[in-house]
Amino acid sequence: MARAMNASLHLATSENRARDIIEIGMNRRPYCRACGEPTTVVEHHDGLWLECVATPRPNHRLLRLLDGMFGVAHDRQLLIDGVAA
Ligand SMILES: [Zn+2]
Repeated sequence: MARAMNASLHLATSENRARDIIEIGMNRRPYCRACGEPTTVVEHHDGLWLECVATPRPNHRLLRLLDGMFGVAHDRQLLIDGVAA
């Protein structure tokens, strides 16, 4: 019983911490410095990232190519390393 309560308490603490980190990140960089679009939190296989909404997604190869050609460096910042959930 006590073990289960500790586990749920730990989970709640982790969730609060994650929410804090996300909020701090979004407050620090609400808009992309490269294009002015808003930033958003995106989950990738390696963690939670704060990134520009205009950041090309991996499946948009043409956009990635254009981005590389014109050197647009959208804001992208790792908030939480390695998402366990
Ligand atoms: Zn951008």
